[in-house]
Amino acid sequence: MDSSPVYDILVVGGGINGCGIARDAVGRGYSVFLAEMDDLASGTSSGSTKLIHGGLRYLEHYEFRLVREALMEREVLWRNAPHIIWPMRFVLPYAKGLRPAWMLRLGLFIYDYIGGRKLLPPTRTLDMRRDPSGKPLKPGFAKAFEYSDGWVNDARLVVLNATDAAARGAEIHTRTMVEDARFEDGIWSILLHDRLTEEHREVRARLVVNAAGPWVDQVLSRALGRNNAHNVRLVQGSHIVVRRKFDDPRAYFFQNADGRIIFAIPYEEEFTLIGTTDQDYAGDPHDVKITDAEIDYLCAAASEYFVEPVQRSDIVWTYSAVRPLYDDGASKAQEATRDYVLRTEPGDGPIINAFGGKITTYRRLAESMLEKIEGILGKKGRSWTADAPLPGGDFPPTGYEAEVEKLRKAYPFLDLHHARRLVRLYGTNAGVLLGDAKSLAELGRNFGADLYEAEVRYLVDHEWAVTSEDVLWRRTKRGLRLSQKEAAALDEFMKGLSRRESAAAE
Ligand SMILES: Cc1cc2nc3c(=O)[nH]c(=O)nc-3n(C[C@H](O)[C@H](O)[C@H](O)COP(=O)(O)OP(=O)(O)OC[C@H]3O[C@@H](n4cnc5c(N)ncnc54)[C@H](O)[C@@H]3O)c2cc1C
Repeated sequence: MDSSPVYDILVVGGGINGCGIARDAVGRGYSVFLAEMDDLASGTSSGSTKLIHGGLRYLEHYEFRLVREALMEREVLWRNAPHIIWPMRFVLPYAKGLRPAWMLRLGLFIYDYIGGRKLLPPTRTLDMRRDPSGKPLKPGFAKAFEYSDGWVNDARLVVLNATDAAARGAEIHTRTMVEDARFEDGIWSILLHDRLTEEHREVRARLVVNAAGPWVDQVLSRALGRNNAHNVRLVQGSHIVVRRKFDDPRAYFFQNADGRIIFAIPYEEEFTLIGTTDQDYAGDPHDVKITDAEIDYLCAAASEYFVEPVQRSDIVWTYSAVRPLYDDGASKAQEATRDYVLRTEPGDGPIINAFGGKITTYRRLAESMLEKIEGILGKKGRSWTADAPLPGGDFPPTGYEAEVEKLRKAYPFLDLHHARRLVRLYGTNAGVLLGDAKSLAELGRNFGADLYEAEVRYLVDHEWAVTSEDVLWRRTKRGLRLSQKEAAALDEFMKGLSRRESAAAE
């Protein structure tokens, strides 16, 4: 007889939805095992535009439920993670021949009043001939609207949900692929492939939650034995990162002649993030890459507005991801619904799928998923995540500067930049990685751009980082600043760490 534990829930996928569901479920008392085939947030959840937003544009598609829920989440998420989420003002220039000013004003009026806004300031009208945000733009844009939304470090939001879930007792396994499953005597046996050791093993669970994002249909068809699943439409979106185009802390919301919109957002202090695109995608979501046509499109669209055109030669980095949109049969990719759908899969063995969704609504998606889970496994605890800070986020929403001050008092050897960066990434946990260091030298080897060994080891020990890419492009964005040589040195160091670990285990 098999004596291995039977988990209540096996979650497939360590993106924002899988990690958010795992955290909520374990906090209510269910036992949870989460399997992520690669790194946390290695799928769509690190490739977003990084906005905590209602989605002004979705009003045009009458997605009032989604917009309202997302707007309400802005301040809830900001309150619970003020280190990685903060308010941002957006400047939306009125452009002749595109949406009329009354329509923009009406949309923003709705935006301001349906979203439970308490701390975020309301919309105002700008005279771009006088306002500093008009300066980098072409002189034809005389009028604009300025409104509130939020910014999020998307990849860290995922990791913080996973660390909190683990602290509450969830098993989080990265580099662990769900390959196969069978349902016997009321229990799932799920075959896992550890991609680091190449070993296979089985875990048992009562219920499978399929939160595999753009792979959701693949998991259903290949691993869970439901043939020919087709529930999501895969839509590629790409971004370019260029050297900073403007000094203003506000972001721009630009309308394009094709009816689409793009954002130009201050990014990582020295850069501007420009995106995104919408085009149907076929192929493995991990292979998604920006196309030449997308680069041309983004450069041209931004250059319609900026005095100084955006050129290919300005680009320092690009990234692309695939939206797993619930397939509602819309003809154009940009029109497919951004709302999420949770569905219990018919057939033998309980499976609940999550289709679609936004970073912004992940917490609400998890709450709805928990209602479905309760229907199958029976009710345990109540919903609790609206008032529970994420790790490092236990300080007031407007308390970031005070946290930076505190950290510099405790560690006077940190310069302002370094301290600010650490509080942005780790919040009140910055001290955990600095330990009792009394000097920079005590943080160990410097890999470049303030990335010290102590931070890398923290990410390996507490945040499942395995490769240099996990550290440089997901846990931090130091990849934007390290030279190729420095990145290669970090890579060697990290390979050494995993070699030592496997030698220790033998
Ligand atoms: C270009 C773009 C811009 C966006 N901008 C925004 C925005 O500004 N604001 C916003 O709120 N939302 C935005 N979104 C939407 C948001 O990013 C996604 O809805 C969200 O990240 C989806 O998360 P997920 O957890 O469902 O999927 P993912 O993050 O893809 O996670 C699924 C995970 O499942 C894993 N997996 C797959 N198969 C298996 C298997 N067999 N075994 C184990 N693991 C497996 C994958 O490796 C992956 O990590 C944007 C999306 C895109 C593409």
